[in-house]
Amino acid sequence: MKYKRILLKLSGEALMGENQHGIDPNRLEQYAMEIKRVHEKGLELAIVIGGGNIFRGVDGEKSGIDRVQGDYMGMLATVINAMALQSTLEKHGMYTRLMSGLKMEQVCEPFIRRRAIRHLEKNRIVIFGAGIGNPYFTTDSTASLRAIETEADVVLKGTRVDGVYTADPEKDPTATKYTHVSFQEAYEKGLSIMDMTAFTLCMENNLPIIVFDMNKPGNLFDIIDGKEVGTLIN
Ligand code: UDP
Repeated sequence: MKYKRILLKLSGEALMGENQHGIDPNRLEQYAMEIKRVHEKGLELAIVIGGGNIFRGVDGEKSGIDRVQGDYMGMLATVINAMALQSTLEKHGMYTRLMSGLKMEQVCEPFIRRRAIRHLEKNRIVIFGAGIGNPYFTTDSTASLRAIETEADVVLKGTRVDGVYTADPEKDPTATKYTHVSFQEAYEKGLSIMDMTAFTLCMENNLPIIVFDMNKPGNLFDIIDGKEVGTLIN
């Protein structure tokens, strides 16, 4: 296998499926099966999940909610998604641990780096909820940071597009896809991969990112099998 330990970032929005809000149980099932397939290969797997299907701090601000308060609401939203994912993974026989950036000991463990690594070594799927526990950050930054802290080989950013394009393919029909792009080029061209904080963390710590379409069955497996899927940024 190409990688030993990966960090998979899933957006909250992806969990909506065809709906406008909330969690689509079919989408959860689909992701659980994709995850099970790679995990059965013996890969160590950590997951960061977003909360955009429920709440985002910046959106709350537009409707008058204090930004910091809204960001904490967003972090709580990620825990709801993380718990739903945890439950679905466990239903399919995977061992998991949910670690939170905010203390909520009735539902999950606090994030403790050494403990997270130990869980991974024991082949438990570790889900990181509540972001990094601080406002003004995103779950993309959480993915970069937790991947570095737990010494993951790569961040796999599962999205609904199949990679990074020269322009937004939904707006510009002439846009072409990169199969590989360096951090430097991506930075200079301002390619949209992750927010700047998340991107810089990866660049400065030589942590490769792969952006890929998580909704295409088999993509996740193909990546860990060493096939060229999506866009590699390194
Ligand atoms: N958030 C935060 N700090 C973090 C992670 C998340 O404040 O470390 C908040 C922020 O308001 C964000 C929301 O949680 O908008 C949900 O996360 P995100 O927008 O990254 O989710 P996604 O876009 O991946 O669904």
